[in-house]
Amino acid sequence: MSLKLCSACLLGVCCRYDGKSKPHQKVIALLKKDVLIPVCPEQLGGLSVPREPAEKKGARVIDRQGKDVTQSFTKGAQEVLRIARLFDVQQAILKQRSASCGHGQIYDGSFTGTLIPGDGVTTSYLKENGIEVFSEEELP
Ligand code: SF4
Repeated sequence: MSLKLCSACLLGVCCRYDGKSKPHQKVIALLKKDVLIPVCPEQLGGLSVPREPAEKKGARVIDRQGKDVTQSFTKGAQEVLRIARLFDVQQAILKQRSASCGHGQIYDGSFTGTLIPGDGVTTSYLKENGIEVFSEEELP
């Protein structure tokens, strides 16, 4: 049995910007053998549910109304790392394409559904601090 962080929305927690979740059966099935610690960096950064969707634009994160929410996203990433350290977690399964949790691909900041290579704010921060990150789509 191993311990991993997991985007809470992948486990069915309604923490997304639209008040919904994104349960993923392969991730939920992992609970039979692993302990998954649910985290939502955007909530941990102080953002509400529901909230305006936000996308990375260069080094900043901007919501659909044009508000700069970089500080909340950064705080959320720091809180997730704090939880990783508390539980001595070395791996995280994070939600693909999110401005916080995305791994390898994120939206480009234009709110047009256009994808570009890159990582979300929490994913980058965890990787910089030695945590291995997979998206739900990268699970075997
Ligand atoms: Fe899911 Fe991450 Fe977005 Fe929270 S921040 S809703 S965990 S993708």
